[in-house]
Amino acid sequence: MSVFSTPDASQPARFLVVLDADSTLIQNEAIELLAEEAGSLDHVAAVTERAMRGELDFAASLRERVATLAGLEGLVFDVVRSRITVTPGVQELIAGLHDRGSRVGVVSGGFHELLDPLGAALGLDHLRANRLEVVDGRLTGRVLGPIVDAQAKADALTQWAAENEVPLRQTIAVGDGANDLLMMGVAGLSVAFNAKPAVRERADVTAGRIDLSDVLPLIGLRG
Ligand SMILES: [Mg+2]
Repeated sequence: MSVFSTPDASQPARFLVVLDADSTLIQNEAIELLAEEAGSLDHVAAVTERAMRGELDFAASLRERVATLAGLEGLVFDVVRSRITVTPGVQELIAGLHDRGSRVGVVSGGFHELLDPLGAALGLDHLRANRLEVVDGRLTGRVLGPIVDAQAKADALTQWAAENEVPLRQTIAVGDGANDLLMMGVAGLSVAFNAKPAVRERADVTAGRIDLSDVLPLIGLRG
């Protein structure tokens, strides 16, 4: 193990990279994997596409999509987790950041129930997402607490930067959808990754291929 491989909490981090989850950290849309199990995939996929293009209010559209999951057994999370595909380059990106004392967080309009084990396995420093209500072993079709929407994503980036004593100019936001635009506006550098046209137009940089380790050279770090 390199002597630099463990972040030193006594030293201010050099960078904070905040990733979106669905179609960024992972190649799936979590709500669609769940909807497939509920038999509501066609409807949910159409709503998700419009939401990511910025045509719908994210929170309202998420509530509508989650409502179609009512009645699914809680065990569905185990099934769906096994079908998540992690985006190439994630491990290299996280290792490269940690080697230089930097931090990485994920903020998602998806769900803690699916992302928590992945976040632990990857060694994420921060993770914030929505939670699905389960009563008597079944999903109720409701989201618990305030929804992680575009503003909540920007707030998470700002909060994590402060906690890690990273100036906002040394923060990087990486995402693909319209609900990433506010956090991309707050960050020092915004990266459109696998992104919708509206996101590519407003980002500082558009990633040319689907490999998250490409973020390292953008901030002067080699993978
Ligand atoms: Mg996304």
